[in-house]
Amino acid sequence: MGGPGSFVKFENLHELKRLFHWGPIIALSVITICSIMAVIDSVLWYWPLDTAGGSLNFIMLINWTVMILYNYFNAMFVGPGYVPPGWKPVNSEDATYLQYCKICQSYKAPRSHHCRKCNRCVLKMDHHCPWINNCCGHHNHASFTLFLFLAPLGCMHAAFIFIMTMYTQLYNRVSFGWSSVKIDMSFAKRDPRPIIPFGLSAFATSLFALGLALGTTIAVGMLFIIQLKVILRNKTSIESWIEEKAKDRIQYYQTGETFIFPYDLGGKWNNFKQVFTWSGNPEGDGIAWPVREGCHRYSLTMEQLKQKADKRVRSVRYRATEDYSGACCPVTKGIKTFFTTPCTEEPRIDLQKGELILATRGLKHWMYGDRIFEDGTPKVGDRIRGWFPRRCVGKCSQDCESEQTHKEVKKTR
Ligand SMILES: [Zn+2]
Ligand SMILES: [Zn+2]
Repeated sequence: MGGPGSFVKFENLHELKRLFHWGPIIALSVITICSIMAVIDSVLWYWPLDTAGGSLNFIMLINWTVMILYNYFNAMFVGPGYVPPGWKPVNSEDATYLQYCKICQSYKAPRSHHCRKCNRCVLKMDHHCPWINNCCGHHNHASFTLFLFLAPLGCMHAAFIFIMTMYTQLYNRVSFGWSSVKIDMSFAKRDPRPIIPFGLSAFATSLFALGLALGTTIAVGMLFIIQLKVILRNKTSIESWIEEKAKDRIQYYQTGETFIFPYDLGGKWNNFKQVFTWSGNPEGDGIAWPVREGCHRYSLTMEQLKQKADKRVRSVRYRATEDYSGACCPVTKGIKTFFTTPCTEEPRIDLQKGELILATRGLKHWMYGDRIFEDGTPKVGDRIRGWFPRRCVGKCSQDCESEQTHKEVKKTR
């Protein structure tokens, strides 16, 4: 794993398979369409070889495309970095503060989370981004954010070119300089016909590209603002969520604790320097993290353990009363179930009558939970969880098992 400078490495070539997914295919198509149309329209509107302004416009345009693609491929192929297989803390006593990932067979380093899509524990995981078909995490946070910064700028430049081209082509090649309006007859002088005839289809394509460019500017611009906040607070999207749940938990149990997020180093600039450095590599190895004064090195992971125990207490056992195939929109489970299927990429679980499920959250017609077995916990690394229709299950009566988990929670608290 390396920084932006090292992405064209032979060992990364197998990562090329990440391109074959709807996210990168759509993203690269948008970049290609906007870039090619912007180049063609620039030739029509602002001929690059006659004036310094035209040359500058053209060079800037190429520059955006190159920088956008460079950061995009970096984010995709360098990747977020992963917890090494079998990793455990140097000081074995510290393991009590950490969660264990049964799939990766390693402890979860602070700030890492298991991504089901990548099937690895990801360092400082922020989210799994379908557009780069990879996680956004420790090693690619800078290039990912730079991509989000550059893409709207490039799109705004392209949108300006599309508008100017359509305008000037509609109004007999009246072109606008920075301070003058002139009738540009250079096309007529060079050639009786324009190099690229601007017919109805060219107009329609420019209009389409304009729509893409404006849509990308807004959508990606909003994502950039989110990532900028993440970086300036040194708090990932997942960690913001953990912090929210910490406040809820403390309020619910009235424990009188105060939870201070430990990785915000105080000061936006200090946090910024953790992600953006001159070398292109982020600070640190992604496993050991500096914490702000007065915080315990593992205060976040300890909070996560408490929340996990709390979730077990608050989750409810259900027994399947009907079979369910695991279909996203099941046709036989009623019209409401069909139309209110959760809009998420999270899996569904199939049910067979009589099976037990530990539900952790739910919507009106759908629930989310883990399948559990009569003889105890699922096999190692074999956790089966997902959404299922609420009408296929019925609540179990309380039994001794939940008594046990109650005691466990008291111990960990
Ligand atoms: Zn894992
Ligand atoms: Zn992922």
